[in-house]
Amino acid sequence: MENILEINNLTKKYGNKTVLSSFSAEFKKGEIYGLVGNNGAGKTTLLKLICGLIKPNDGEIKFASIKTEDKRDKKISIGALIESVGYFPEMTAYENLKAKGLCLGYDCSKDTINALLNKVGLNDVAKKRVGKFSTGMKQRLAIALALMGEPELLLLDEPLNGLDPQGINEVRKIIAKIPQELNTTIILSSHILDELFKVATRFIILKDGKLLKNISKNDLIKEKGDLPIDEYYLKLIK
Ligand code: ATP
Repeated sequence: MENILEINNLTKKYGNKTVLSSFSAEFKKGEIYGLVGNNGAGKTTLLKLICGLIKPNDGEIKFASIKTEDKRDKKISIGALIESVGYFPEMTAYENLKAKGLCLGYDCSKDTINALLNKVGLNDVAKKRVGKFSTGMKQRLAIALALMGEPELLLLDEPLNGLDPQGINEVRKIIAKIPQELNTTIILSSHILDELFKVATRFIILKDGKLLKNISKNDLIKEKGDLPIDEYYLKLIK
């Protein structure tokens, strides 16, 4: 399978503190990577480094280039939902998507925006002001915003946080469909391991800034045996 991203010996320090240490991994097209680790393990730092929000102290991040319809090479595009999401509460879901599309030069035709709203199950509330949305609805809008322009790589930092069980279920199902629908690779961090286990196809496990494991779901199933996923994880990071 084709790599969309390769990371070699990536290190990030804040002052004297190394928060990500010589991290290396390859990311393959169409997979959903579950990014797991203790608080402060470096998950958000890794996602910020990948999307260029912060610079590494050492190491390299290599993105695949892809062929455009007119056969030119273009760098992959990245959509990201990291920390707080910028939306306009006084505007509707539709208007928020349109505003981002206009600002960034993405296709923001009515059909494209409606298709995005449909993908995240917000078509019925397209004309509702976002300030009146529930947390789950806001999170689904955040995913739609990150999906604008159909990125090849989607980074989602704890998108299940703060959602009730129904919201978690809805967002998880939306995420699970994205790779087939848009041929997008996803890196998804979460502390809700059983939910992550339902959706991820590979797992990257960090502990205190170091890579502990990069494992496919099938190998993880073999390795954990009868242990529930959270017990396997706790045993691993001990
Ligand atoms: P959590 O699960 O709690 O969200 P995380 O795995 O996402 O944690 P990071 O947010 O990447 O962890 O943080 C890794 C370490 O880097 C932590 O010790 C954090 O305090 C530190 N850190 C993050 N951002 C900064 C910053 N801007 N300045 C200084 N230290 C930082």
